[in-house]
Amino acid sequence: MIKFINANKWFNDQHVLKNINLEITKGEVIVICGPSGAGKSTFLRTINKLEPIDDGEIIVDGMYLSDSRTDLTALRAEIGMVFQHFNLYPHKTATNNITLAPRKVRGLSKNDARERAHKLLERVGLIHRKDAYPAQLSGGEQQRVAIARSLAMEPKIMLFDEPTSALDPELINEVLDVMISLAKEGMTMVVVTHEIGFAQKVADKVVFMADGEILEIGSPPGIFVNPRHQRTKDFMSSVFHIPIFDAGQEEE
Ligand code: ADP
Ligand code: MG
Repeated sequence: MIKFINANKWFNDQHVLKNINLEITKGEVIVICGPSGAGKSTFLRTINKLEPIDDGEIIVDGMYLSDSRTDLTALRAEIGMVFQHFNLYPHKTATNNITLAPRKVRGLSKNDARERAHKLLERVGLIHRKDAYPAQLSGGEQQRVAIARSLAMEPKIMLFDEPTSALDPELINEVLDVMISLAKEGMTMVVVTHEIGFAQKVADKVVFMADGEILEIGSPPGIFVNPRHQRTKDFMSSVFHIPIFDAGQEEE
């Protein structure tokens, strides 16, 4: 579904993605973690070519991103993206935030778009808030509307960049639960997060990045509990002061 082949990117003379090689198959959930400045956001943004790479290749659903003939509108229509800050339109209701793109880009009728929006609001547990404006919603609710808004375009891939890091702790789980159900339904997902509970439940692989490089790829316990690299160990112990779960322990 997504393949990075020796991908490199520089911002001026700063080498921000170094020889990235990674294959993500359909339905896989990949968690990316690593220190601030590691290149995680840049990595995500190369997948829909919001950031072009300078060297190497990225192939997304058969589209070669280095090929200038690749249709960026078609590429981006397949990829939903959810950021740390929800960026909902403040003067539009939850429903109308969701109907906007399907109406404009997909040409859905007003009624079809509303119907789709309401189904999605139901799916993220917010149908009772369908007529609320963003300012009337909590951060967790706004982020769930933002996820519904992305899903309204029927993407094949969902990218999440620290989707819960701006939320109050008690609102994090309601967003993660929506993401977990999406993962269980088979969505291909690339998620930058340090929520190891999420990773433990649904991640097929965890990728640890530092200084623009992929240092380690492994299972959630492999990376969080038994990392091989000293750099990964140092990062994990600085983020998680206590061991949060053991390798053998499964939670469902
Ligand atoms: P992360 O998401 O892991 O914190 P980023 O991908 O945001 O890392 O950034 C990686 C590096 O690239 C950082 O040193 C950052 O300052 C730099 N960087 C990110 N975006 C730009 C940009 N548009 N122009 C110049 N430098 C950038
Ligand atoms: Mg970032």
